[in-house]
Amino acid sequence: MPEGPMPRDAETVAATYATDVLVLGAGSAGCVVAARLSEDAGTQVALIEAGPAAWNEPWIRIPAGFARLYASGKYDWRFHTEAEPGLDGRSIHWPRGKVVGGSGAVNGLVFLRGSPRDYDRWAQSGARGWAHDDVLPFFQRMETWDGPASEGRGTDGPIHAAEARHVSTGAKAFIDSAIAMGYPRVKDFNGPWHEGAGPMQMNVKGGRRSHSADMFLRPARRRANLNIMPGRGIRRLLFEGTRCIGALVKGPAGLERWEARREVVLCAGAIGTPQILMLSGIGDGAHLAEMGIPVLHHSRGVGRNLQDHFLQRMRYRTKPCGTVNELWNAPLGKLQMAARYAWDRRGPMSIGAAEANLFARVLPGAEEPDMQYLFVNFTVTTYDVGPDAHPGFMFSACQCRPDSRGSITLRSPDPDAKPVIRASYLDAPHDQRLMVEGVKYARRLAAQAPLAALIEEELTPGPRAATDEEILAHVRRDGGTVYHPCGTARMGEDDLAPVDPLLRVKGVERLRVADASVMPLIPSSNIQPAVLMIGERAAALLRGAARGG
Ligand SMILES: Cc1cc2nc3c(=O)[nH]c(=O)nc-3n(C[C@H](O)[C@H](O)[C@H](O)COP(=O)(O)OP(=O)(O)OC[C@H]3O[C@@H](n4cnc5c(N)ncnc54)[C@H](O)[C@@H]3O)c2cc1C
Repeated sequence: MPEGPMPRDAETVAATYATDVLVLGAGSAGCVVAARLSEDAGTQVALIEAGPAAWNEPWIRIPAGFARLYASGKYDWRFHTEAEPGLDGRSIHWPRGKVVGGSGAVNGLVFLRGSPRDYDRWAQSGARGWAHDDVLPFFQRMETWDGPASEGRGTDGPIHAAEARHVSTGAKAFIDSAIAMGYPRVKDFNGPWHEGAGPMQMNVKGGRRSHSADMFLRPARRRANLNIMPGRGIRRLLFEGTRCIGALVKGPAGLERWEARREVVLCAGAIGTPQILMLSGIGDGAHLAEMGIPVLHHSRGVGRNLQDHFLQRMRYRTKPCGTVNELWNAPLGKLQMAARYAWDRRGPMSIGAAEANLFARVLPGAEEPDMQYLFVNFTVTTYDVGPDAHPGFMFSACQCRPDSRGSITLRSPDPDAKPVIRASYLDAPHDQRLMVEGVKYARRLAAQAPLAALIEEELTPGPRAATDEEILAHVRRDGGTVYHPCGTARMGEDDLAPVDPLLRVKGVERLRVADASVMPLIPSSNIQPAVLMIGERAAALLRGAARGG
């Protein structure tokens, strides 16, 4: 039996399994990869996942359930960043899905691809073959757009997308105020140009979450050639020389050895993937030596290039105008919301993280939108606590393309130890300026009719954040994440890129990465559609390779 590079696990292997392709991590991308590959009856596929399968969890299906899952910590890895120097030393909670479906099962359902230019920038950065024209067919393949016919949209893919089924008084006012500022009402945020305002697009089918576990994996799970193995933590990859031959996995009855005859595909997400690579001896040699891990391949870029969207919430106390705060705090309000959702899958419970959207240019001279505003019809200080007691809504000012870069490193060679996450928010002067201008811009929006007539008071940042310095100080104290970490095993042609544009890990054979970590640059909006596209593309590459392509 082949051996790994280092006999670091003292326990003995309880069982050995073999398959053709081993997919590690059943998240947004992993479910797509496993489902697509298993369409070929002749390919044996095994999909390994740390979390449980939760096929019938109602809070995953109900869009508003994302807030409940967040607050409960159910299906969450419960990661936190280190104390962030740019945020006055605050550590930020980074939820990550630990369930079949991964973060796509617990996310806010905002379904936006970003700008076509984002992918042209990927190609320019060295991800050859990932320009917008190259990736468009894969965006189309994974989706069905349940809206009016629109250029570049998919019509028969598994993931369904539609405009929000509920647009509140506040959301309408938000959109109309943006139009009053000169923005167009965007017909399709996933069309060729996305600047402007409109109701949010969400990955929903008939008002229920439409995600890769449900739409790709569920229909595939009875296939004889697909093994879905939840409740199994990946310890490290196994190699014969530099050829990846499988993974060592902690199963319910002890260590399991999973061998892959053809390829291993790492889909453990922007935190799990670099962690597993490093635990397996692929990473910065000096860092691995520090951890006592023998170096299989010195790859300085593993865990670097971490990017995330940072946000500042503009919270408003409003006149009564049907906000979720009012319903939440009314005697029968929760029942009313539940009844409405049960009746026709509409109303506030049909909404995830946002009801309306605006892509705006806030920095002087910006050639394309640099700030995304996400409107929600309630106020919270954080999602850990419920809506505030007074009527209110908020919109978040989210950076489209931050310059700051963070890192993931190991805390210890123990696979159960959480890695060290340094997001480095607001490290780059551009990001600081963007947030200050983003807040000022949001205030101009809030001062426009019809929004202005609904707003009684700006709660955060509030009147004490008046000058640029005060606004920045507030953002450091109060800003947070949009939950989009990516880029930690980026693809590219330069030496620092750990993965090549065919998603192959450099320096070893038969190992690919397919998840948010391969993104060279963060897209301008919420990133899950891009992750699903990567999953589709990875499956096509693997099938092509199997055919000798
Ligand atoms: C709270 C929240 C809200 C979000 N809102 C939105 C949104 O509205 N719109 C949007 O586009 N994006 C959103 N995102 C981001 C988006 O969901 C993620 O970027 C995307 O799902 C990442 O996909 P992935 O396949 O790279 O990783 P994941 O989906 O995280 O999958 C990785 C999988 O690997 C498994 N795994 C990791 N390590 C191991 C291990 N050692 N052993 C076994 N299994 C392992 C994990 O359990 C997980 O299932 C949100 C994310 C969160 C957390």
